[in-house]
Amino acid sequence: MKKILIVEDNEINLKLIRTVLKAKGFLLAEARDGEEALKIAVAERPDIILIDIQIPKADGLEVTRWIRAMDDLKDRQIIAITAHAMEGDRKKFLEAGCDGYISKPINTRTFIDEIEAILIQKAERMKNAG
Ligand code: MN
Repeated sequence: MKKILIVEDNEINLKLIRTVLKAKGFLLAEARDGEEALKIAVAERPDIILIDIQIPKADGLEVTRWIRAMDDLKDRQIIAITAHAMEGDRKKFLEAGCDGYISKPINTRTFIDEIEAILIQKAERMKNAG
């Protein structure tokens, strides 16, 4: 079973995401700020990182860039979670190294499907890139 690191500083969102993923049987790790996210990513080596963009100490895009620069973690799936996705944000997230993003508020009924759709899109992009 895949391990997912949830990085989220809002306890209500964290609980929502934890509940949805736990019900699906994923192994979970959690962090509440940018520094902790990096530390836990190194220690736990998650397959997927769900990262809130607005977190204390370092924003989600900064943490994503750090992870992409690490040899043993750069190939992980990283999905941004954001409350204020605006025109151009998708490009900004992808350029930082995110594989896609999910908009808040979290929809618990579609959350898993949204993650899967992003991973499928990434696989297709990589296949097309040869
Ligand atoms: Mn936040």
